[in-house]
Amino acid sequence: MAKKLKFSDAWKYAEAPESAPCAIASEYGLFIDGDYRPASDGGLMTTLNPATEKPLAQFAVGTSQDVDDAVKSARAALPKWKRLPAKERGKYLFRIARRLQERAREFAILETKDGGKPIKESRDVDIPEAAKHFFYHAGWADKLDYAFPGRSAGPVGVCGQIIPWNFPLLMAAWKIAPALACGNTVVLKPAETTPLTALRLAEVFQEVGLPRGVVNILTGAGETGASLAAHPGIQKLAFTGSTDVGKILAKTVAGTGKRLTLELGGKSPNIIFSDAAIDQAVEGIINGIYFNQGHVCCAGSRLFVQESILEEVTTKLEIRLKSLRVGDPMDKNTDVGAINSKGQLNTIRSYIRTAKEEGARHCQVSNGKLPSKGYWCRPSFFTGVQPSHTIAQEEIFGPVLAVMSFRTPEEALKRANNTPYGLAAGIWTDKGAKIFEMAARLKAGVVWCNTYNRFDATSPFGGFKESGFGREGGRQGLRAYLELV
Ligand code: NAP
Ligand code: MG
Repeated sequence: MAKKLKFSDAWKYAEAPESAPCAIASEYGLFIDGDYRPASDGGLMTTLNPATEKPLAQFAVGTSQDVDDAVKSARAALPKWKRLPAKERGKYLFRIARRLQERAREFAILETKDGGKPIKESRDVDIPEAAKHFFYHAGWADKLDYAFPGRSAGPVGVCGQIIPWNFPLLMAAWKIAPALACGNTVVLKPAETTPLTALRLAEVFQEVGLPRGVVNILTGAGETGASLAAHPGIQKLAFTGSTDVGKILAKTVAGTGKRLTLELGGKSPNIIFSDAAIDQAVEGIINGIYFNQGHVCCAGSRLFVQESILEEVTTKLEIRLKSLRVGDPMDKNTDVGAINSKGQLNTIRSYIRTAKEEGARHCQVSNGKLPSKGYWCRPSFFTGVQPSHTIAQEEIFGPVLAVMSFRTPEEALKRANNTPYGLAAGIWTDKGAKIFEMAARLKAGVVWCNTYNRFDATSPFGGFKESGFGREGGRQGLRAYLELV
């Protein structure tokens, strides 16, 4: 006789692991001049799967000799690449985009294994958005003179590009696609905890027959990036990462005549007015701070709630937190995956300790058992946060939210802008006039209205103040990769 089902059984969580194959080699070389090769001194590092703490692969650590070789290869490829008819350059970008779509599942698995983000995010956000960036910029390649009417547009030269670990393939696409569309050549350095998707993107370049040297991928540690930034053979440096390293790079580049764009950290405000649709706003808060384990430069990490709805919002937030599934990133149901590295987990834990010591109240719910291995941090929020608290001022880069209240729009604006950063902001209200007034006065590169963490290749992204300068995406993003005469 069939087993009698209880009501609670019907709602049991059934595991749904991603099972498609994705081969990972035991060792990867540097991609220079169209081929993979070992580092000049044979140096290797290991990249882990942060959800299991098991090694995934070893990769070469680029030395200053390798940086020199990569820059020379990019320089040698430049004259032919920039003279190629623009529509032919565009065709290469279209081919890269299409190949990324064809291999999307494999890229998503690799991204999730190497970085710890849930498979549903790498599958639905990172990889499709990366392909979109190549498609979008493919379209621009032969229309650059129309992008800047009355001017004639030409490439800048060899571009050094350094990217972080939170959106490894997407950041590579944000950097490489506009550079190539504008006729530049590239040396790109991925982060040391997530080198694998950039290296696999190099396979795509080989598949589509991209001429040798047009893109070089140099894996390695911070020193590899430092030596790329200091190399006299690059004409432009594009960096996404921490504000501290951004400041070092600004000094490196100062007085050299190199172009520089910086996409740095943030402490973005998400502002909820009492006339907002509360349930949607709660979803927006969740998406704003817990998406990608809070490893998002524009995360809505400071929540400002109008006083009259503070209790309702925090109660709903707590209920919603309970339903978030934390754990195996390869499971298609997982909402919050693994923290990218042990170092980042320690940083997040130390911010949580400090917040408690400074007197804020921690709300962390238990949402199921965590795996015994791996780097995990349950999503949480703090109430009773004062503007002077560390958690209200410094970037945590983890799933931790600081909740504060306000009474008037003026107070919300003042407090939201009271930060050295200016990357993004969110506004939740039913009133269009309030949206226009607030959006115009918030000092942030992106202001989302009744939504949060939405990205689009056609829309420029970038910061104010210590969040950096320059824009990526949209027509504005092309500017950094062009000489206009
Ligand atoms: P990070 O330490 O600044 O590293 C970013 C990249 O720079 C990595 O490839 C890193 O290599 C390299 N690097 C480290 N030290 C360097 C040096 N002295 N010279 C040249 N390159 C160097 O930042 P992260 O911890 O990887 O990333 C988190 C930060 O990035 C957060 O602050 C976040 O807000 C910011 N971020 C900003 C945006 C944006 O668009 N505004 C987007 C994503 C992330 P290693 O990996 O080998 O150390
Ligand atoms: Mg890794």
